[in-house]
Amino acid sequence: MTLFPDRNLGLALLVLCLAASCARSGQDAGTEPERQVEPAGRPPDVVVVVLDSLRADELLREVGRRRVMPRLAAWARSAVVFRNARAPSCSTPTSVAALFTSLPVPATGVDFHRALPDSALTLAQVLRRAGYATRGYSANPNVTARLGLDRGFDELVEAYVDPALSERVRIQPHHPGWIVRPERLIERAWTDLLGAASSEPGKPQFVYLHLLQPHAPYQPPAPHRDMFVHAGMQPVAGSIPEIARHDGRPLDPAWLAGLRARYDEHVHWADAATGELLDRLAAHPRFRDAAVIVLSDHGEAFGEHGRLFHNTTVFEEMLRIPLLVRVPGAVLPRAVVDAPVDLLDVAPTICRLAGIDPPPQFWGHDLLDLAREGPPAERREFLAVARPPAPKFPPYVALVSGRLKLIRNERSGRESLFDLEADPEERSDLSAEQPQLLEFARGRLDGMLARCRGLGLGRGPQAPPLREEIERLRSLGYTR
Ligand SMILES: [Zn+2]
Repeated sequence: MTLFPDRNLGLALLVLCLAASCARSGQDAGTEPERQVEPAGRPPDVVVVVLDSLRADELLREVGRRRVMPRLAAWARSAVVFRNARAPSCSTPTSVAALFTSLPVPATGVDFHRALPDSALTLAQVLRRAGYATRGYSANPNVTARLGLDRGFDELVEAYVDPALSERVRIQPHHPGWIVRPERLIERAWTDLLGAASSEPGKPQFVYLHLLQPHAPYQPPAPHRDMFVHAGMQPVAGSIPEIARHDGRPLDPAWLAGLRARYDEHVHWADAATGELLDRLAAHPRFRDAAVIVLSDHGEAFGEHGRLFHNTTVFEEMLRIPLLVRVPGAVLPRAVVDAPVDLLDVAPTICRLAGIDPPPQFWGHDLLDLAREGPPAERREFLAVARPPAPKFPPYVALVSGRLKLIRNERSGRESLFDLEADPEERSDLSAEQPQLLEFARGRLDGMLARCRGLGLGRGPQAPPLREEIERLRSLGYTR
C-alpha cells in the first residue's frame, strides 16, 4: 500500500510538513504564555474518576439495542468528549505515573517494579501547595505508595488491603486475590468528601478515584451478569486463568464474542456505580459545581494483534481510552474534540481549572483550550510504552506523530511503521517500503527519548514485590 498516489511528491510534502510542524511543537514545552484563571472565591473542587482498562469504544457501544454505558453516555452530553485520547502506556502504574507527573514514561522510568523518582513533581503536590485537600482511593494494587504514587496526597486509601473495602476472590496464583467493588470505594470516597466539606468548608477538594472495574476478572454480579448474552456466543467464565489460556493463540469467534459480552457486562457494572457518583455530585449543593474528569488508564485487547488483556503492546486497542471533562459554568463552544490528546494533558488542565499556572515540568497542554479555540496550529507528538511485568514479553516504545506511528521493540530493535489514517488497525507495516518516513519517525522518536533523558530525573528505587507488600500490609491489619 502507499500513502499517496504520487509517492515521491507525497513523501516530500509529508516530510516537509512534519518537519515544520514538529519544529514548532518542539518549542512549546514549558514556554506557554501564562494565563491565570481568576476563580470566584474558593477554587473549584476537582474529582478524577478512573475506570481501569476501559476501551475507548465502550462509551457509545451498543449490543442489540442496549447501551453498554448508558449512565456515562448520558452524562457525556454535559461534558467535553475527547474522541482521540490515548494513554501513554498499556499498563496501570506507568500510565498513572504519567497522569500524575504530566511526563512520558521514559522520563520517570516507572514500571511494575520501579518507583517514581524523588525528583518528579506530581499534580497532587502542586494542588496541595495551592491549598487543596488531596485524597486518593485506589482499588488497583499498582496505584500505590509502593511505587511512589501517593506523592502529594494527604491520604491514599489502598483499598485492596483494607478488609472493610475488599473481598477475596480466586484470580490466579501470583495475583493478590482481592477485589474492591466500585460501590464500596465510591461510598468511602463520598463519605470522606462530605466530611471534609463539612469540617473545612473553605478548603477546595481534589479527589482521585481509581476503580478496578472493568479490569479482569470479568465477573460482574447481578443484575449486570448475562445482560449481553446473545446467540452465537460461547459462555466464558471470565476468570483471568481461564482467559489467559487463550492469550496469543488463534481465537474462536464464538468464544471471543462470549468474552467481550462478559467485559461489556463488567463495564455496565462500572458504569452504574460511576453514574451513581456523578448523580450524587450533580445533586449536591456544593459539588454540583465540581470539575469532573472521567478517563481510563489504558485500553484492553480482544484478540487484536493476537493479544488479550493489556500490558503487552502499544497497538491502539491497548492505548485508546475515553476521556471526558465536565466543567459546570465554563463557556466551551466545542463539546466534542477530535484533536489527539493524551493523559499528560490532564494535570495541566486541572492546574488551570484551579487557577494555577502549570509548572514548567509538566509536558501536557490544557485540554480545554481545544474546546475553546479548536484544533491547535502545531502537530503534536506522543510517546507510548509497553513495560510488561513478565520478562517473556519485550518492552516497546512508540511515537505517534500525526498519522504516522512508529513502534520499536526495545529488546530486538525491530521497528514497524503504520499510517493510522489509512490503516487504523495497524495491519500494514510500512517500514520497508517507506524508508524516508521511517527515518523521519525514527529521528523524532530518538529526539523525544533524548529529551526525556535530558530532564535528568534519575531512576526511582526498586519497589518491593507486590505480593509480599500486600501480604505484609494485610497481616498488619492495615485499614487506613
Ligand atoms: Zn489499569
